[in-house]
Amino acid sequence: MSISEAALLPPVPVPDEVSRPFWDGCRRKELLMQRCASCQRYRFHPREMCPHCRSMAAEWRPVSGRGLIFSKVVCHPPVLPAFQDRVPYAVVLVELEEDPNLRLVGNVLDVPPDRVRIGSPVHVAFQEISEEITLPQWRLA
Ligand SMILES: [Zn+2]
Repeated sequence: MSISEAALLPPVPVPDEVSRPFWDGCRRKELLMQRCASCQRYRFHPREMCPHCRSMAAEWRPVSGRGLIFSKVVCHPPVLPAFQDRVPYAVVLVELEEDPNLRLVGNVLDVPPDRVRIGSPVHVAFQEISEEITLPQWRLA
């Protein structure tokens, strides 16, 4: 694949040792969040050390997949070639109901960006983009 051909494809997450349980859960259509086994607080993105208490002990817990749109932006041209067929589209930051500090970035599927409003309830919708990667996206509740 040439560099110009690669520019036409959207970037794809690359799981590593720490984030692999998150991506494996998404592939099974299960939203898992990393939680500290010492102080019990959730964290996202996945990482080895708890940002609250510095414990290295962590576990993966299923969460509801329900949340509220905390913030949004609408992308308009110019965008990378891989995204030019999608504009305009909304990118949202969703606050999960389990913890207001647990926020994921994604898109709201199947609605025009002007229907996407801060404060709206959403639920997770898994979008398979390759054999290895399924993205957690969102639908209006
Ligand atoms: Zn902790």
